[in-house]
Amino acid sequence: MTSPPDVFPSPTHWAVSRWGADPYSRGSWSYVRPGGSPDDRAVLAEPISDGVILAGEAVHRTRPAMVHGAYETGRAAAEWCGDASSVIVVGAGAAGIGAAEVLGDRCVVVEARDRIGGRIDTVMLGDAAADLGAAWMQQYGDNAIAERVRALDIASVPTDFARPIVRARIDNDAVVVHENYRALKAACAAFIRAEAGGDGWDGSVPLDPGPWLASLAPAERAAAVRMIEGDIVIEAGAPTTDISSKWVFSEPGVGEGDCWLPSGYGDVLSRLVAGIDVRLGWPVTHIEHGGGIDEGVVVSGPSGTLCADRAVVTVPISVLQAGAITFEPSLPHRHRRALDRIGLGTVEKVVLRFAERWWPHDDNGYLRWFDEPTNFVEWLDLTDHVGAPVVAGLISAPHTLGWYNESSDFDIAMRATHALHRCAGLFPSSESSRSVRTDVSER
Ligand SMILES: Cc1cc2nc3c(=O)[nH]c(=O)nc-3n(C[C@H](O)[C@H](O)[C@H](O)COP(=O)(O)OP(=O)(O)OC[C@H]3O[C@@H](n4cnc5c(N)ncnc54)[C@H](O)[C@@H]3O)c2cc1C
Repeated sequence: MTSPPDVFPSPTHWAVSRWGADPYSRGSWSYVRPGGSPDDRAVLAEPISDGVILAGEAVHRTRPAMVHGAYETGRAAAEWCGDASSVIVVGAGAAGIGAAEVLGDRCVVVEARDRIGGRIDTVMLGDAAADLGAAWMQQYGDNAIAERVRALDIASVPTDFARPIVRARIDNDAVVVHENYRALKAACAAFIRAEAGGDGWDGSVPLDPGPWLASLAPAERAAAVRMIEGDIVIEAGAPTTDISSKWVFSEPGVGEGDCWLPSGYGDVLSRLVAGIDVRLGWPVTHIEHGGGIDEGVVVSGPSGTLCADRAVVTVPISVLQAGAITFEPSLPHRHRRALDRIGLGTVEKVVLRFAERWWPHDDNGYLRWFDEPTNFVEWLDLTDHVGAPVVAGLISAPHTLGWYNESSDFDIAMRATHALHRCAGLFPSSESSRSVRTDVSER
């Protein structure tokens, strides 16, 4: 590791995500709320009428919250359209592009933003690509997107999540969290399961780690708090009070063998969408679907009105929950109830480029940082593969409350830099960023 610089380092380029505030995402990925279960995801994947079906990451029963799950649901929804001669696909994220690949010239894709990709958003920091949204191909060995990536001969890099560099504000915690992290999570699950009556484990109650924490010795408790805040909360992007006590431990998350893409995830989607009719800047606000396949569907918004045999709607569930698209007739009760039981958490990402690399690194490039209070907890060092000192940091919405949305991109980038600086072993007495040099340029 290069020694951390004496002067507070400042990035030369940066980019900051706004997934929570963006009206076309309103969050980052889905999780099961108290009272919900993966069955609710399956309900959402059922056709809402003869004319309309939903797709997207939140409706995959077994691979939710991930790009390849979204992509699979899009393809499945397209298959459901059968031999319909015209289909409108709403949304050009992974699910929409998956659907469009199957439907080919029988479909038109309408996308609210002025870009494709949805929660995949590759930005350039100078000449280096970095992802503000999804970065890893998860479940790599059984991932439909990864298959396409291999076929297209696009380079990818594995991350071993079990082998992070771990740093903590309190040194002892770093040791305890690192060595006991998986055991701590399993112990938390076992405690909550036992409290809820063993096999009758009740997913209807929110995750309440309080009694488990109280049962631990003080040193272990401190590490357990880090595990909950820096792992469980960031995996859901939601406060424990809104997370199912059951499914938080059993839905799939990141896994070993996951790979990321130095050329950016957006590069993959751009290649998959080639030849498809995509209309950008086309937000949908209303869908009429009452008449069955013979009468088709009518999709409308400020950009116009389109008619087709069927529609595949791939917008994030949060867009539906917010009522940003109205349906006529309205969504069936089963779908509305399922929408209440699945949440969309928010995790934000900051990507930073510096003149040189000064943070802890190894060939794996994966860094965990347990700060007090919880901060940017997870970092991926892209430097060895993008040809420039670039690093990406993640923070969960419960830890951004009250400051993130009110802060400028510059201030957020500086706050992330400060966290990384502390992680690198420097603990300035002042939290102020006044010492930051300002001879910097945004991406
Ligand atoms: C910070 C972050 C990190 C992540 N990391 C990973 C990761 O490493 N690996 C992984 O597999 N997954 C990751 N994810 C999750 C992954 O990005 C999503 O699961 C996936 O991209 C969702 O695809 P989708 O097609 O379901 O939805 P989206 O990508 O959200 O696509 C929906 C599309 O609908 C459009 N839309 C919305 N409203 C309207 C409207 N009214 N009219 C028309 N169009 C509309 C949107 O603009 C969008 O393009 C991450 C997400 C975030 C935010």
